[in-house]
Amino acid sequence: MFEADGLPTSTDNTSTSASLQVLASSANNGSQITVTTANSQSNCVLCLKAGNVKACTGCRSVKYCSRTCQKTDWPVHKLLCCSFKAFATDKKPSPSHVRAILFPRDSRTPCFVWVPANPENLDERDGSEFASDASFGGGSEFQNFNGSPFCAATQKLWFMFDITYPKKKDNLNRAILNLGAPGLGLPWLGPVLGCGTSDVDMRDFRAMVDFFVLHPHNKAILDPHRYFGPAVHGVRLNSESMVKAYDLPELEGVYMTKSMIKKSSRMRLDALSQLFEIPIAWHVTNDFPGAADPYKDGDPNPMSYIVSVSRQIDAIQKIDPDDSRSTKAFGDYGTIFITRLDDKPVYALHVELWHELLQWKSGEIKKACNTANPINALAKIFNKKKTLEYWPGFLMRHRLVQGELDERPSPYEV
Ligand SMILES: [Zn+2]
Ligand SMILES: [Zn+2]
Repeated sequence: MFEADGLPTSTDNTSTSASLQVLASSANNGSQITVTTANSQSNCVLCLKAGNVKACTGCRSVKYCSRTCQKTDWPVHKLLCCSFKAFATDKKPSPSHVRAILFPRDSRTPCFVWVPANPENLDERDGSEFASDASFGGGSEFQNFNGSPFCAATQKLWFMFDITYPKKKDNLNRAILNLGAPGLGLPWLGPVLGCGTSDVDMRDFRAMVDFFVLHPHNKAILDPHRYFGPAVHGVRLNSESMVKAYDLPELEGVYMTKSMIKKSSRMRLDALSQLFEIPIAWHVTNDFPGAADPYKDGDPNPMSYIVSVSRQIDAIQKIDPDDSRSTKAFGDYGTIFITRLDDKPVYALHVELWHELLQWKSGEIKKACNTANPINALAKIFNKKKTLEYWPGFLMRHRLVQGELDERPSPYEV
């Protein structure tokens, strides 16, 4: 049944409630119940909240805690909801087939497919059984993931894709691009097959979408509410090959959740933080999938100047004397993230400001670094007061060049 806005209605899934009650009454204490019911099937597929969840009546394969969650999920969910029943388990071509999801290169919509699988070695799948079939990816590499806290997967999932697919914009996977991550336009190339150890369902589909949206930029997301709640706004400085290959802007605003930041390596840019009186941090990305991404260590980054300058001053100051990267040439950091340690937002405009100031004063910076007390000498070139004096003119020029009004506050007013 569908309501006026096209969403299937949600109904209580009584069979699940009943089975949970059986588990509860057979368990001796509360902690055992918690462990038993940690099964993702009883959680909202979107926010992962447990409790009073209702099944989607279109596919009955996912549950939602609220109509808000169902509505939020709908643009993604609707891509496969209607076709799920046509791929019911009893419609398998043979018992050795499993239900998988194909993300075609040349279509905006993913689809369910039956793929041959050898049940003997499902846990050690290496993709060889699909390798002969080009429509399933035809590649030789699996990207696997176990499911993260924000993934609703019911099982271990794999992606199959061709690692030799030519890296050019025309070969970008359109189905994955269409999954709602504009700006993060992930460089998955050619057809991609998503599969598990058994039949994948609509929860696994949502988990695959999460994976695409978050990976490899899994420290940065576009929608902070969809995933972990509290997030900080940062800026991604795309490497030169990312910019060229995928038409990405040099600077992109992104959200990074606090828990993501904790997990990743965040390094304070000491010199920059002192000079601008703002705790600025940077993060390198080191988890791109080699198969689909041109990133490699040493990939030039047109905007990495601010990181390089800060680290070179740090090295002179003996703040970070052991770091060999400090002395490397400018622009070899691949893709970089910039955030603030006080969790206040950083906008692309701020990064441009720091970049412009550092380049403008590069001669004076070099001289200051050669004095007995570089930070004192540098503080005469930059500080909060001087940066704020520079800001209105910078903003006006920026507006003239961009042809638009950017109402972002200065780094001191966020
Ligand atoms: Zn929910
Ligand atoms: Zn559905």
